[in-house]
Amino acid sequence: MSDKNDGTAPADKTIFDAIAQGDLTEFKNILAEHKGGVDFFDENGMTALQHAAYKGNKDMVQLLLDRGADVNSGKHEYNYTALHFGALSGSSEVCKLLLDAGAKPTATNSVGRTASQMAAFVGNHHTVATINNYVPRSEIAYFSTIQGQQTEPYLPAVLVDPLHKFVLGVNIHPVRLALNLQHSPALLENAEKVSKVLELLCKKEMTRGSETNEVMAFKYHYLAYIVREINNIKDKQKPASDKDEKKYDIVEIFSKKLLKPGKDGVSLDLMDSFLKDCVREFPFRECTTFHQMVTSLTSKDPPSALSVINCTLNGQRGFVDAIPYCSTCGEEKPAKKCSKCKSVQYCDRECQRLHWFVHKKACNRESSAPSVATTNTKADINPNILCSEIQNLLAG
Ligand SMILES: [Zn+2]
Ligand SMILES: [Zn+2]
Repeated sequence: MSDKNDGTAPADKTIFDAIAQGDLTEFKNILAEHKGGVDFFDENGMTALQHAAYKGNKDMVQLLLDRGADVNSGKHEYNYTALHFGALSGSSEVCKLLLDAGAKPTATNSVGRTASQMAAFVGNHHTVATINNYVPRSEIAYFSTIQGQQTEPYLPAVLVDPLHKFVLGVNIHPVRLALNLQHSPALLENAEKVSKVLELLCKKEMTRGSETNEVMAFKYHYLAYIVREINNIKDKQKPASDKDEKKYDIVEIFSKKLLKPGKDGVSLDLMDSFLKDCVREFPFRECTTFHQMVTSLTSKDPPSALSVINCTLNGQRGFVDAIPYCSTCGEEKPAKKCSKCKSVQYCDRECQRLHWFVHKKACNRESSAPSVATTNTKADINPNILCSEIQNLLAG
């Protein structure tokens, strides 16, 4: 029974219950029976989409977006958008769906915080990176159309989606990027065009005036640099003839070069100089982002170039995190451990294989206790209580 007197359908109340309980079947039933718009509001001005985003429920978010839910609805009492709630949920997938649907990452709540800043505030670093690294598909698609006197576009249309996905990737470890390229053969085959388009994107990003996003421009430059290097390896390794078709693995050659430990047996000197060269080659030397990177790289006890670049692109992490990483490609919370020593972790067999030339020496002598992966247990807090608590914290 509906206790509302504004003539809204009974779906109004039950849909919030279904979202709260995560009952997808019931949720689908309600939507199937309800023919009108799906921008239901609760008593705090929060929409069904915002509730589903807060729950981090990507199926419900997708269904509501498919039905035309307003992704930028702004009637919440503290001006939170669906993206703010997605950011609080820590679900990068939900944030990506909302951004694809046109959610504005620059929208601020009543204390002037964007969704990405809220995600940082509650420690959802992956979500921060997902939002900060987002670019609309149209940015890439622009280069698949003919410009001016061109007879063919810079980018074949079939490469728009794979390149968009490549650009949105949050893990910027060079070996992970090489693996991503290998898993997307069309990009690898057209590596020259791809690196050219990435350079053009960099330039375009730097000439937007007040809208310029220096960090994104550097990311395009960085990706172009990696793609070019992998393309160089590809060209050098090409078998001389069809008969000579012995196996050559670009990623293996690339990762052997980068993961080879230096004289001390630990630091990755080759990776470091490779990445420092990348920073040095950034063509826009007047910008703040470039100066900040150079300042940290030339400081007294400099962090690795990889961590400087990662901080620039994905934001600073606190020291509280003890997240395990893949020893090969830096992916967070990898699924597998070396079965022998259990002291290193990997995404999969591929990553383990690529790292074996380094790890085999350590593996034979170590037998330390397995490190335990921390799991993110999130308490079930009512979104309105959370919002008003955050308001108090930030406003105080
Ligand atoms: Zn990995
Ligand atoms: Zn081992």
